[in-house]
Amino acid sequence: MTDFAATKALFHLPEGMIYLDGNSLGPLPKATAARVERAVTAEWGEKVITGWNRAGWMAQPTVLGDRIGRLIGAEPGHVVLGDTLSIKVFQALAAAIDLVPDRRVILTDNGNFPSDIYMAEGLIKSLGRGHELRIVNPEDVADHINDDLAVLMLTQVGYSDGRLHDMADLTAKAHAAGAVTVWDLAHSAGALAVDLQGCNADFAVGCTYKYLNAGPGAPAFIYVAPRHIANCQPALSGWLGHAAPFAFDLDYRPGTGIERMRVGTPPVLQMAALDAALDIWDQVDMTALRRASVALTEQFIVGIEATCPMLTLASPRDPAKRGSQVCFAFENGYAAMQACIAQNVVGDFRAPDIMRFGFTPLFIDAGDVDRAIAVISKVMNERLWDDPAFKQVSRVT
Ligand SMILES: *Cc1c(COP(=O)(O)O)cnc(C)c1O
Repeated sequence: MTDFAATKALFHLPEGMIYLDGNSLGPLPKATAARVERAVTAEWGEKVITGWNRAGWMAQPTVLGDRIGRLIGAEPGHVVLGDTLSIKVFQALAAAIDLVPDRRVILTDNGNFPSDIYMAEGLIKSLGRGHELRIVNPEDVADHINDDLAVLMLTQVGYSDGRLHDMADLTAKAHAAGAVTVWDLAHSAGALAVDLQGCNADFAVGCTYKYLNAGPGAPAFIYVAPRHIANCQPALSGWLGHAAPFAFDLDYRPGTGIERMRVGTPPVLQMAALDAALDIWDQVDMTALRRASVALTEQFIVGIEATCPMLTLASPRDPAKRGSQVCFAFENGYAAMQACIAQNVVGDFRAPDIMRFGFTPLFIDAGDVDRAIAVISKVMNERLWDDPAFKQVSRVT
């Protein structure tokens, strides 16, 4: 069992704020500042370049990768950190395409995050081998899995509605059709129990600044199933993915195992922040987390629907088909969210009309949900959002 009152005490949460945006940028663990300070002063400051060996910097991407691996059901030694999620999508998709050389179709859904789609389109263009990105409605994905399919590329939990794809079922269908899968776990890792191994997943990617709480700019991760790694030809063949980076050989030879998915110098200071965040995750039982998350989202939906008839649930009603976020559609959603934020209930807005709220049991409890419902229903019923100040759109929504 996990004591969520104890995990909550490990976070710095701004005074008076109910933070329902941990699905977009996790809050600051209290231990992070000291851990980063140690990386800066005791490691970088005192060890300088010897830190690569003596402070374990060079090993961090796989050491921390394994700690994330436990949360997503990966085999030890098959997750590595580095770069941003968009880059990892490109890398995973390029490797997946290579495994099915005689087919040309990549299937995704229109609920996928645009960057994943952009990266796929960019990759297809640079390959110039006639691949086609087929984009269908999320509920129609299974029907489009056929013998043309090379790669099924999906984000397991939709960023704008919280819809949860059935990874085991869709992976099995893709395999039966002779295709491979790339799963984006951006809204899954740290949100629910993922079982990559049990689902027989091929590739997975995700980020660490959302539910994992490693801070803005924290690196992404990539998983490659053990059965594929030896056949995986890195499209981004950087020196740290080389079998012997310090041989400075002019011929690229991929490293053994997951290390070949590294590209260049890892972000050491940000990995120190991730290290501190994972100290919390190391104590968390993912089944307990999922149970707590479902209870919070159910409580929120019941409370909002009872008090805010003008909001329409945009997430699946069945918790088994939902990740750890709840979205409501409202015509003036941007202004309404700004008004909620002004009242210290922080969620975010996704175009065209989605008010998005993330539920993170590590630091949100039932009392917070009750308080959030009271604030949101006041904002909505008293039309507090109907103020020009809340309609000024900022660069980041
Ligand atoms: C958040 C998110 C991204 C962001 O990618 P970055 O390269 O880290 O900016 C990409 N894909 C999905 C599905 C996301 O949710």
